[in-house]
Amino acid sequence: MANIADMTPFQAVTRYFDQACDRLGVRDEIRNLICTPDREMRVEIPVRMDDGSLEVFIGYRIQHNGSRGPYKGGVRYHPEADEEEVRALAALMTWKTALVGIPFGGAKGGVQCDPKVLSPTELQALTRRFTRSISHIIGVNQDIPAPDVGTNSQTMAWMMSAYAEEHGYAPGVVTGKPLELGGSAGREQATGRGVSLMIKEVAKDLSIAMDHSRIVIQGFGNVGSWAAHFLDESGCSVVAVSDVNGGIHSGQGLDLAQLKVHLNETGTVVGFKGAEAITNDELLEMECEFLVPAALGGAIHRGNASKIRARLVVEGANNPVTPGGEEILNDRGIPCLPDLLVNAGGVTVSYFEWVQNIQRFPWELSRVEKELEEILVKAYREVSALVESEKITYRAAAFSIAVDRVVKALELQGLP
Ligand code: NAD
Repeated sequence: MANIADMTPFQAVTRYFDQACDRLGVRDEIRNLICTPDREMRVEIPVRMDDGSLEVFIGYRIQHNGSRGPYKGGVRYHPEADEEEVRALAALMTWKTALVGIPFGGAKGGVQCDPKVLSPTELQALTRRFTRSISHIIGVNQDIPAPDVGTNSQTMAWMMSAYAEEHGYAPGVVTGKPLELGGSAGREQATGRGVSLMIKEVAKDLSIAMDHSRIVIQGFGNVGSWAAHFLDESGCSVVAVSDVNGGIHSGQGLDLAQLKVHLNETGTVVGFKGAEAITNDELLEMECEFLVPAALGGAIHRGNASKIRARLVVEGANNPVTPGGEEILNDRGIPCLPDLLVNAGGVTVSYFEWVQNIQRFPWELSRVEKELEEILVKAYREVSALVESEKITYRAAAFSIAVDRVVKALELQGLP
């Protein structure tokens, strides 16, 4: 195993898994079985570009573990979406679905590309070709992709359509679809809603008043912007946010309605009037009650963890705190609420969408919200009870619960 300072994302997830296995006394042969992904697929995606040239992209679908149900996980379009990152994200999905107790395994997909420079025609061609290449390993009861960074409901609509061309109408093959194609009410905001619910629960336990609690959010995309919205609604003060271009700060709290107008007009939070400009590094180091990294992995690491001045770090993104970074946060008494709990709202409402597609019976938003809250709060309570009784970190508790469930599901089905 690599040194904690230079662990790859997959080594980091494996380290948490191994620590949980040590705690639970899981046998080596079972560890090896679970740790090795069930299936890894790498595909070539040739795309005829608008200028007539032919470009070749590389895509992956990695199915990590299917002991508890069909594989489930998003598809990321990003220049750094390589095999190693996709493998780590697939493993994390196994633990996330197990922790919140929904009947899925873990998977992830990725295409190494920059969606910002591709035209809608090129994006559609890429998505259709990628879907056709993996269509024999996905399916309503096999593996169900969803959106992630760089993909959205439009991407899912193309995936559903390309899959239907070969296999027939099956809306449950992907989640995060547009409402018109069988998407679920509340899916778009689900992850941000979950982030806010988790902050409310931990605030109760630690006796932190939500009213005027200062929130700092890195990344103002789907997760970050919806988390800001719900936290603002709960009385918190969102004092700083950022995107890939930079950050903004206002001690009085940002006017989110005005910020939305600015974002729609300019495509970035930078340049918003009534707030001072800050860098992403400065944002991470701001004094606040809750720091929510909601952009990409590796944001908080050994190099900056000693400068974090938050009461708590709440992982909106996947893997935003490296193991080395967390070690420093732990030493400094700054708890870290882990990704597999904090951002599980997205996959939970994806599960509801899948159920609605199978039953051909759409739910009202109120039902989605109620069931989401019940599932996430139950998961939080299970984690916090273990933190309390075993005196371990939130992450260690979350992994212990999740790993125990996957190990039991695997053993009950019989080993080879
Ligand atoms: P998104 O593409 O909608 O938004 C990402 C945001 O991060 C954008 O504002 C972007 O500008 C910003 N960003 C990118 N690089 C940055 C950098 N270096 N510094 C600062 N900001 C940067 O993506 P999203 O769907 O909001 O996902 C964010 C994270 O949450 C990812 O780690 C993703 O895997 C995770 N996640 C998303 C969901 C979901 O339902 N969307 C569910 C679970 C986990």
